[in-house]
Amino acid sequence: MRADVDLDIGRKTFASGLLPELIAVLRRSRPGDLVAVVSEEESIGRELETWCRFTGNPLLEATTERGRTRWIFRYGAVPGPAEDNRPVGSRLWLYANFDCNLHCDYCCVRSSPTAPRRELGLARVQRIAREAAGLGVKEIFVTGGEPFLLEDIGDILLACAAAAPSTVLTNGMLFAGRRIESLRALPRDRIVLQISLDSATPELHDLHRGPGTWARTREGIQRARAHGFRVRLAATVSTDAEAAAFRQFLDEEKIGAEDRVIRRIALRGSAAEGVALSRADLVPEVTITADGVYWHPVGAEDPDLLVTRDIFPLAESFAAVRRAFDREGEHANKLAKIFNCA
Ligand code: SF4
Repeated sequence: MRADVDLDIGRKTFASGLLPELIAVLRRSRPGDLVAVVSEEESIGRELETWCRFTGNPLLEATTERGRTRWIFRYGAVPGPAEDNRPVGSRLWLYANFDCNLHCDYCCVRSSPTAPRRELGLARVQRIAREAAGLGVKEIFVTGGEPFLLEDIGDILLACAAAAPSTVLTNGMLFAGRRIESLRALPRDRIVLQISLDSATPELHDLHRGPGTWARTREGIQRARAHGFRVRLAATVSTDAEAAAFRQFLDEEKIGAEDRVIRRIALRGSAAEGVALSRADLVPEVTITADGVYWHPVGAEDPDLLVTRDIFPLAESFAAVRRAFDREGEHANKLAKIFNCA
């Protein structure tokens, strides 16, 4: 991960002058900057993590190479609205495959046409849906890569819709031939299509997603609506100005609040820039991939967000996410108590 500021601290520790160095580096940084601390003392990692938690500067990454460790923390909290107060486990995300017909430069899980397919598979999805129904899951989200690359996506979505209202995330570019047949069979009252569209005009969307993609996605949106589906439009943006321009477009198109999602690029996966997010920044939303159960869909292949490799029984993997969430909360409480001044 690229940092805005690099701080080489040699062999300094918290007992020998590291703290003033950290304070000084924050004084010359701006909120949101990523600060890399490089040290020959791997043992300071635990204290540095505690310092990051206490000061609200989330630790994002730690890597060791040739005897030197590099920690990256973000200066300050993530800007933007607070997370909804949903119970953990009420939303369930399924990464159906990971391969994609597109190669977007900010894809948070590095999907692309050359990404190996890592398929959850219909049998596992059917079991997940059966077990999810008894675990308080209120919504299921199916994402890809591009889920409509899968031959059996229709059956996968039918299984999910039988368990809970479901949303499928798609770039909307494959609604033709046999794929439109998969769409036709789906219950309109249980399935929403969330289609990615980043801007009101092609330039920005095509810049990130490839030439000609905006126009094909617009066609896909029209096709989905023509088949009677509710369509939610989801934009991934870099700046407040881009978000405001897209909001204006949605207003003009008379898209209701419930059918719009505008989010910032996350500094995960293929993204070279974006909002750096740690586990502590994200309220967990149980996310299942072929490789295991993750904390959140953003970065659902990154080791720091892996909760357990064991998907089944689903009740146990949900419990593992809840236990991990409780541990995060305990950290925060412990620090609040240690530094209670009055
Ligand atoms: S952002 Fe979506 S459409 Fe783009 S490569 Fe990733 S999965 Fe595919």
